[in-house]
Amino acid sequence: MDTIGLLFPRKCFGCGKFDSYICEDCVKSIPKVKQICAVCKKPSRNGYTHLRCKKEGAPDRLISVFPYKGAVKKAILTMKYKFAYDIGKSLAQLTFERWGKIKGKYLLAPLPLHEKRFNWRGFNQSEEIGKHLAKLTGWRFVPDLLIKKKMTKPQVELGKEERHINVKNVFSINPKYLGWKLKSNVILLDDVWTTGTTMKEGIKALKTFGFKKVWGLAVAKSGVGNRR
Ligand SMILES: [Zn+2]
Ligand SMILES: [Zn+2]
Repeated sequence: MDTIGLLFPRKCFGCGKFDSYICEDCVKSIPKVKQICAVCKKPSRNGYTHLRCKKEGAPDRLISVFPYKGAVKKAILTMKYKFAYDIGKSLAQLTFERWGKIKGKYLLAPLPLHEKRFNWRGFNQSEEIGKHLAKLTGWRFVPDLLIKKKMTKPQVELGKEERHINVKNVFSINPKYLGWKLKSNVILLDDVWTTGTTMKEGIKALKTFGFKKVWGLAVAKSGVGNRR
């Protein structure tokens, strides 16, 4: 057993029962997320962007898998700040069970972290989850499809207006993929959807590059619209 395993025994973040990070009973008790349109944030069936909200560079769909609270929130935070890689596999499995059976050919790309933060944290949690999710879904995993152009301050330290400026045009397509023929649709994965600003910038970069359909997939969605 490695040190991570010793520090993080497989114990349910919901009820404390051993053997899994989120046990079956606790998974069942997690409410469904009310899906929203990524543009206007109002309810939308299956997360598709409203016709009236469609504009150039906008996401075509946003899928939020779980509300960002309780056991899921604890799992994500523990993974993120305690370097507990193993939790990513469980979160991928849970994501797959709720939303992974989507038919069609997709590229799955994680929303990147900036290099400096990547190094400090040691890993990008969205990439970890994505790696496992791609194996389960059969989607083609392209971990470095998007790259970040410059350092941004952590979003939480900024006001709404600053947040927007902070992430404006920070993403671009990795030059090694510039010659790609764009037949696939892309699913951009992030662990938590908060304001959606960063995710939407990533999607905009992909659509500007020429991908026709780009969806956001958030393992958890924080904020309003979650059913209690
Ligand atoms: Zn439990
Ligand atoms: Zn809308």
